Amino acid sequence: MSQVATAIHQIKQTLPPGVTLVAVSKFHSIEKLSEAYDAGQRVFGESRAQEVVPKSQTLTHDDIEWHFIGHLQPNKVKMIAPFVTLIHSVDSLKLLKEINKQSAKVDRKLHCLLEVKVAAEDSKHGLTPEACLELLREGEWREMANISIDGLMCMATNTDDKDRIRQDFAQAHALFKQIKQEFFADAEHFSIRSWGMSDDYEIAIEEGSNMIRVGSAIFGERM
Ligand SMILES: *Cc1c(COP(=O)(O)O)cnc(C)c1O
Repeated sequence: MSQVATAIHQIKQTLPPGVTLVAVSKFHSIEKLSEAYDAGQRVFGESRAQEVVPKSQTLTHDDIEWHFIGHLQPNKVKMIAPFVTLIHSVDSLKLLKEINKQSAKVDRKLHCLLEVKVAAEDSKHGLTPEACLELLREGEWREMANISIDGLMCMATNTDDKDRIRQDFAQAHALFKQIKQEFFADAEHFSIRSWGMSDDYEIAIEEGSNMIRVGSAIFGERM
């Protein structure tokens, strides 16, 4: 078995039912992605428009799902709209509007997560919890027929301090529950909690994650 296949099997064995593994394949070759596909992996995460487009046109199995997980500039939405199913990194109303517009043009409905900023660093993208609530309360998203807001995404503080990481995920989980109650109480689709990467996905799952985004633990270090 390839190293990629072994890693995928090992991770999947430890996952509770209902947790989706997104294999973060950014900067890795099509050969590595094919190994992951052959090992049963179907959901791939990419963070650059110029990379997800050629990859999705090369690895064309019908049952693959491409997720966009990186920072997304509104002017790149048009490039990816035909190919991706879920965008994890929506961090402004402007971006959400552009996703709605471009998905309408290609006659699709794109699934979106709001990226919330819970980490201590300033540099991270994402909406503060307050900005996230404000965007939802403002309500323009309700008129957007070609998007669906399916949950939240976050990244924890980049630190070895496990308590700090746990706190970040717990904050995202509390916000998720609040939003669910206030805006999506009757909407089953609002259900995705995308947090946890190679170094912290176990903590993330303990703190309510049901979608983990794992790169280096599957594919090794990025080039
Ligand atoms: C690169 C990346 C990951 C995966 O990180 P690893 O530490 O390699 O598992 C997860 N989420 C986002 C948003 C990323 O950019």
